[in-house]
Amino acid sequence: MRVAVVGAGISGLVAAYRLRLALGSELELALVERRERIGGTLHTGVLAGGPVDLGAEAFVGRRPEIPALLRELGLADQLVHPSGRRPLIWSGGTAHPMPGGTLMGIPAQADSMTGLVDEATLRRIATEPDRPLHWKPGDDVSVADLVSERFGAQVVSRSVEPLLGGVYAGLANSIGVRSALPGLAAALDAGAASLSEAVSRALPPPSTAPVFGGIRDGYRVLLDALLAAASPELDIDTTAKDLTRTSRGWRLEPVGECDAVILATPAPVTAELLGSPLPEAAAALARIELSSSAVVALALPVDTPLPENSGILVATGESLRAKAFTLSSRKWPHLAERDVAIVRVSFGRFGDDSLLALSDAELIAAATEDLATVTGIAIRPVTAAVQRWRGGLPQYAPGHAELVSTIESAVGATPGLAVAGAYLHGVGVPACAASGTTAAERILAGGEG
Ligand SMILES: Cc1cc2nc3c(=O)[nH]c(=O)nc-3n(C[C@H](O)[C@H](O)[C@H](O)COP(=O)(O)OP(=O)(O)OC[C@H]3O[C@@H](n4cnc5c(N)ncnc54)[C@H](O)[C@@H]3O)c2cc1C
Repeated sequence: MRVAVVGAGISGLVAAYRLRLALGSELELALVERRERIGGTLHTGVLAGGPVDLGAEAFVGRRPEIPALLRELGLADQLVHPSGRRPLIWSGGTAHPMPGGTLMGIPAQADSMTGLVDEATLRRIATEPDRPLHWKPGDDVSVADLVSERFGAQVVSRSVEPLLGGVYAGLANSIGVRSALPGLAAALDAGAASLSEAVSRALPPPSTAPVFGGIRDGYRVLLDALLAAASPELDIDTTAKDLTRTSRGWRLEPVGECDAVILATPAPVTAELLGSPLPEAAAALARIELSSSAVVALALPVDTPLPENSGILVATGESLRAKAFTLSSRKWPHLAERDVAIVRVSFGRFGDDSLLALSDAELIAAATEDLATVTGIAIRPVTAAVQRWRGGLPQYAPGHAELVSTIESAVGATPGLAVAGAYLHGVGVPACAASGTTAAERILAGGEG
């Protein structure tokens, strides 16, 4: 069996690895990657002589996929957890503790927002259960529309958007409730009488398990192990194109004929590749928008008196250019052992690609100045690394679930074809890995469905 996997991000690499595990030497596997390296939006760079992740740096710890992959690949000792320090929110020109007990920043009770929002907003949250909620099962609206109508604009800009900015590089009006917060949508569908009640129902039960996990020497370790285990004919620095159906299955450049194809590419590329064979899926894919971001990793003298917090998230509407600071040496015990203090500064929100026009020097200067502003201390980088992510994150806009269902039913009815990636069932690395596994299983099952 000859299979082509297009895209060597985590989704494509996991799909390739699962196919090889199942088929062994019976599989002829081609992996095509447009960049000159594997990993897609996962990229471990070098900073002050040690590895540092310049794309994703963590994964949700309660999902099983990444610890399971590390174990399977003999890398269990690479699994690390954060220190447990809490982040701050920068709002109104000062730092506030991040509220606890919220669902993506949406409170279940007014008192969790004390200090972060004004008195009128606190009263509005407290009395929200008294106002009738108009929600029909199946509704989908933007997170901004729902939260500002019930709790007011300050909750959106100061509590919700700092968190959405971290996950999707999105704004509350570019992200829909149903796809981004399925538990909340389910509670509303099930008849919660208010948003406060829906949030209370949707909050995960309290747990002492670590919320996040990471990889000691960076994602590179996992990517390399997946590639080695998948052992494909790897074509890097090569753009796959011209996908057409043939009597055997598929043909695409530069792979030629094959029995099956897995497209693990971002939505706009997948739209282009499926334009001729599956126009309906391609049209749905083309409606998924992307958001760009950039990461500047700063190495500071190890004795820099950074706050004792894991990071600082920035409310929207502040006069900073950065949207978040991860105080990596405070967040991750394994990075605290390094002889520099590491801070990752993130830029970029949906609809504003202006940061991509800045030079490395300008981005480093903005990162340094903004970090000095939020910490109130002098910031003197020893060295820095810059990474831009053009179109790095898909936006889960209202109605996203319907687009995904259109894409999946068209692809599901087409033998020898599967899709995987961050636009399907979650942007996080575990969800992408799961989508790679599902795509491989679909090809292995053969036929339709
Ligand atoms: C700055 C940033 C920080 C993030 N932080 C986190 C985090 O901490 N935790 C977390 O869980 N997630 C995080 N994410 C999200 C997560 O990293 C991504 O959603 C995930 O890595 C996407 O993987 P993928 O394989 O689906 O897509 P990609 O990584 O985009 O891979 C797709 C690949 O396809 C290739 N390609 C495109 N077109 C073609 C073509 N025509 N031919 C061949 N190849 C092609 C691309 O070059 C790319 O390598 C972050 C994302 C960003 C941008």
